[in-house]
Amino acid sequence: MACHSVLNDNEVHFCTGCRHEFPVMNLDREGRSIIEKVFRGRIHLKSAVALLRFEKKGIVQQLLHNLKYKGQEEIGTALGKWLGSELQGDNGFTTVDVVLPVPVHKSKLKKRGYNQVDSFGRQLAQKLNAEYLDDILIKTSATATKVFQRRFKRWQNNHEVFELNNAERLVGKNILLVDDIVTTGATIEQCAQVLNSVQDAKLCVAAMAIAE
Ligand SMILES: [Zn+2]
Repeated sequence: MACHSVLNDNEVHFCTGCRHEFPVMNLDREGRSIIEKVFRGRIHLKSAVALLRFEKKGIVQQLLHNLKYKGQEEIGTALGKWLGSELQGDNGFTTVDVVLPVPVHKSKLKKRGYNQVDSFGRQLAQKLNAEYLDDILIKTSATATKVFQRRFKRWQNNHEVFELNNAERLVGKNILLVDDIVTTGATIEQCAQVLNSVQDAKLCVAAMAIAE
């Protein structure tokens, strides 16, 4: 799934060479601290974790490219199983009630056929005994009405906004928001601001990778 070489019988998803090359974070230390640092002073997170370190032209970039543009959803499944197993028994994440993906706009969904964080989020939800909800946090285009209501919306540069459907389902919940890669953290921040309106909800974040 990373280098497209043919796997041996004992290899699953990734060849041995790639597995050794994977820039896996130490999930007790930098896997937390680097992503926590990105959001410090911006949004309040109960816990945050990233599995892999993203480097330009590196193996993780190839992996995420294949996941996003080559229809290789199994990459998300593999990474979700991997991170989910690591987080089982972790106090910061075992209390998670619901897992929400960072949404993609429905026009993109139509074109690509899937949200690239879906398979990752579903595996995490399964491992953490949480519910996976992909229809609550949504991304829509800004319209005149929405511009009028912008007090309640958060803007993205491309004039897309995040909104909540049936937000009452999240009241009092411990929410895990999942994304593929965290760079500036702007997307997560916008989602968090919207989720902030939910009463008594707590927020955690899990990403496949983080770029330093
Ligand atoms: Zn390989």
